[in-house]
Amino acid sequence: MQNERAHLARLLRAGRKILLFTGAGISTGSGIPDFRGPDGVWKKRQPVYYHDFMRSEAARVEHWDYKLEAWAAFRDAQPNATHHSIVRLEQAGKLLAVVTQNIDGLHARAGTSAERLVELHGSNRLVECQTCGKLTEPGPHFEYFRRTREAPLCECGGYLKPATISFGQNLRNEDLERAENAAKEADLVVALGSTLSVYPAANIPMVAAARGAPYVVINRGPTEHDGLAEVTLRLEGDIGEIFPPAVAAALEPGE
Ligand SMILES: [Zn+2]
Repeated sequence: MQNERAHLARLLRAGRKILLFTGAGISTGSGIPDFRGPDGVWKKRQPVYYHDFMRSEAARVEHWDYKLEAWAAFRDAQPNATHHSIVRLEQAGKLLAVVTQNIDGLHARAGTSAERLVELHGSNRLVECQTCGKLTEPGPHFEYFRRTREAPLCECGGYLKPATISFGQNLRNEDLERAENAAKEADLVVALGSTLSVYPAANIPMVAAARGAPYVVINRGPTEHDGLAEVTLRLEGDIGEIFPPAVAAALEPGE
């Protein structure tokens, strides 16, 4: 394990265009529930599909009700040592991009800059009009929904929805393109806290690895990429215990 951690620190030290691919496992330390884990919300609720949301007020109310349940946790969650260590890599000029599956907005809250951040599955920190695309703060919309139990509307008349990608809704082309472009340029790719089982997102690190960039997978529990020839290094365990110290070691002056 010590050798593996030293190997990780060496790769981070050598990296000049590091691509980080992050999933739910980096945010559990911030109190964000893991939607796909054993206690995940999908064990007790049926997801609302996008086409139902657009067609049915009952579906919109169900979606807003589900989002309201988790809203306080998302609003109050704070970035943890892993998010902060990623910001340190950016400040050191070593970070090419962060591509995240997380919708908690914690990378942005920690200080990762918008031009280096791709939130593939959207963000709970904003609400988006499905007609005019206007983005607004969630707080007042949740207040309105709590009071009226009606799905909030945009001033243009369009349906408002938390700015996350719903089931049955395509990822944004612009986001996928930015993520793919980063994967084509990266000289190191590290997957943090993802089971790498949700596509097309999980393909992003493979694009970099297929070009020959070293590929590190850090997760607690198995991932879909375990055992692939492209994986240079696989670390098992708590991200918050593994990654921030490796970043600190990599950024120490001298060799
Ligand atoms: Zn609108």
